[in-house]
Amino acid sequence: MLYPNQTIKDNCLYIGGANTVELAKEYGTPLYVMDEDMIRETCREFKRAIYDGVGENGLVLYASKAFSCRAMYRLVREEGLGIDVVSGGELYTAMKENFPPEKIYFHGNNKTADEIELALSYGVGRFAVDNKEELFLLNELSVKRGVRAKISFRIKPGIDAHTFDAVMTGQIDSKFGVALENGEAFEIMKTAAALPGIEVVGVHCHIGSQIFTTEPFFGAVDVMVDFIARLRRELSIDIRELNLGGGYGIKYTEEDKPIAPAEMFSKVLSHLKEKCEKTGEPVPRVLIEPGRSIVAAAGVTLYTVGSVKTIKDVRTYVSVDGGMTDNPRYALYESRYTATVANRASEPQSETITLAGRCCESGDLIGKDMPLQKTKAGDILAVFSTGAYNYSMASNYNRVPRAATVFVSGGKSREVIRRESYEDIIRNDL
Ligand SMILES: *Cc1c(COP(=O)(O)O)cnc(C)c1O
Repeated sequence: MLYPNQTIKDNCLYIGGANTVELAKEYGTPLYVMDEDMIRETCREFKRAIYDGVGENGLVLYASKAFSCRAMYRLVREEGLGIDVVSGGELYTAMKENFPPEKIYFHGNNKTADEIELALSYGVGRFAVDNKEELFLLNELSVKRGVRAKISFRIKPGIDAHTFDAVMTGQIDSKFGVALENGEAFEIMKTAAALPGIEVVGVHCHIGSQIFTTEPFFGAVDVMVDFIARLRRELSIDIRELNLGGGYGIKYTEEDKPIAPAEMFSKVLSHLKEKCEKTGEPVPRVLIEPGRSIVAAAGVTLYTVGSVKTIKDVRTYVSVDGGMTDNPRYALYESRYTATVANRASEPQSETITLAGRCCESGDLIGKDMPLQKTKAGDILAVFSTGAYNYSMASNYNRVPRAATVFVSGGKSREVIRRESYEDIIRNDL
């Protein structure tokens, strides 16, 4: 048990008041189950935390790559958050739900001309520009339309966020953004400020993922405010907006100790205000971009166990009817997860097993050496904290149809993403 929305009744696991064993029966497996009430509550927590620090002078953007579908954009719109999108596909989906374009921030390190055109036609609030080629392309396309695109530049602040290399994005050896250390960021801001199709509004940084301490954010604030002050002093550029990105950690296993948004931002925003005071800078508008921390904990994936294979003195493989196709995170990062047998939820986790997927790939695992109850074919297995970067990273490898997603609210469930059919699989085959 990792979160308070999980309960056990009659040996069955309940999520947000819904019996997961019944959900598996009703919708089939694999199945993504998301606790809608918990997502909404988390959105409100982040909103309150920013409001308590800077009032109306801030905005929470949901980093929608974590979990993106129409129902999610609808939910986020209803909760009054903005979003960040990183592709034409995410942008298109959001616009299908009439997401207010001024609250959309368009990210990505290699936006295509078509995507930029689409974003300009919708009138998105900000382009988070990543590099000089994109800057010139955006300028050209904006001028052609007779508009000025509002931009925030993606800066590499050079902060080590004490996290895995593969998800560390703030240091100099990164494909994202422009570096501060070597003057690249300064030069490009100077260039940007002189372009007719560009209005420089902000600066942006995103220092990594699964961050559990405030220090890396203090570091990012210091570096970014110093940079903003230098731009004002030396180039008279008025930066009014500071985007601190996402990366707020969540609990995948009992070892993870996340900081609640209220505590995180009371500290980070106090630090920001002090730093601005010292530097003589007005406090900028503050944006944050939580992705994982909005949705991960609210999600559980349900599978059906197909086989239990014990290799004497080696390990026991429990195989389920999904795997890297619905959750590639172990294959990508050796991410760790916690699981339970949903129909034996009160039994002790006396076994140590390796949870295997169904794909033709030895690396297709959900996790190694995980504690679990004794289990057998036909059991329903639940993997926790799968709400982020699971569905959004899903694939059709081995022509496995993507799983359905249901939202539960007040104990009731509804499908928000239909399960793919074999017909869906061949739809674009000619
Ligand atoms: C991925 C990403 C986020 C969200 O990161 P989380 O770890 O999911 O909070 C926010 N901003 C940018 C620019 C990103 O690339």
